Amino acid sequence: MTKSAPLYNRLALIGVGLIGSSIARAARAQDVVREIVATARSADTRRRVAELGIADRVVDSNAAAVAGADLVIVCVPVGACGEVAAEIGAHLVRGATVSDVGSVKGAVLHDMAPHLPAGVHFIPAHPVAGTENSGPDAGFATLFVGRWCILTPPDGADADAVEKLAAFWRALGANVESMPAAHHDLVLAITSHLPHLIAYTIVGTADEFAEVTRSEVLKFSAGGFRDFTRIAASDPTMWRDVFLTNKDAVLEMLGTFNEDLAQLTRAIRRGDGEALFAHFTRTRAIRRGIVQIGQDSPAPDFGRPHPHLPVEPLPRPYATSDDS
Ligand code: NAP
Repeated sequence: MTKSAPLYNRLALIGVGLIGSSIARAARAQDVVREIVATARSADTRRRVAELGIADRVVDSNAAAVAGADLVIVCVPVGACGEVAAEIGAHLVRGATVSDVGSVKGAVLHDMAPHLPAGVHFIPAHPVAGTENSGPDAGFATLFVGRWCILTPPDGADADAVEKLAAFWRALGANVESMPAAHHDLVLAITSHLPHLIAYTIVGTADEFAEVTRSEVLKFSAGGFRDFTRIAASDPTMWRDVFLTNKDAVLEMLGTFNEDLAQLTRAIRRGDGEALFAHFTRTRAIRRGIVQIGQDSPAPDFGRPHPHLPVEPLPRPYATSDDS
């Protein structure tokens, strides 16, 4: 992949945590925009972003950030997207593209669209990449390499604007696919939201046994538990918002999951080794399929190399990409 001329003049990033700061780092490394203006809710984060030097300018308000920007990406928790849209609506430049990175798309579309003026291209997006870490220090330029970014353009979205945003994400190393927001929310409910809920549950359950077994839980965590603890360390605000805003799809998947769990429970109770073996064989094949299509490697995932990005040290503990 070769670098192309900048696609946008000024990128405004609202929210500079894991995802926003990774976009800033990757966009700069790829020269995909001429200027990056950033803002965050707290003075502490704004100060840290300025110290890190990952944006050309750090400003104090959302309205100031979007002034003159031809690409605005809102990188805040899903539940805050509506209020951010209300703040920026009147300050957007005609012809600008407004996007986001939220893990739920129906709610973002519903909450943001009413505040955005005609003449602005609203194209929600979700980079399916992340780690359990938060904040501007957690980001890294290669986060999106080899990962999917899903665009959910509303009906009637301008095709050129959609293609330009797709080109932006491809320049950051991502593969891009478009689909309706409702379909996105259903797919992500099973591939991301339910796994996180299970991890949150199991780590909580283990903690209930902590009185007697805390040392054993930690000592023998490599037996499976450790992987759950990493996912269960994910940002509480972000995940609260995911479950509140993708309630219907998550409940639907949870219903099916509970039925399947009941079946496995019954197989264990009845000593039905054949049923257990058949189930585990099927799930092993699914895992191997994921490795085959390049969405994970058999080795621990320390981020994928990008042909043109300088290799940055990964944050410690080593970030493993996570499909959030
Ligand atoms: P993060 O590291 O916690 O950063 C969140 C940013 O949003 C911070 O700059 C924070 O500002 C700001 N913010 C928080 N609450 C806000 C509010 N009420 N109003 C305005 N700004 C607010 O989060 P992240 O992991 O980058 O996640 C951002 C978005 O990306 C979320 O919508 C999430 O669903 C999506 N996403 C996350 C992942 C993942 O794995 N983490 C993956 C894909 C997509 P302060 O620092 O000043 O508080």
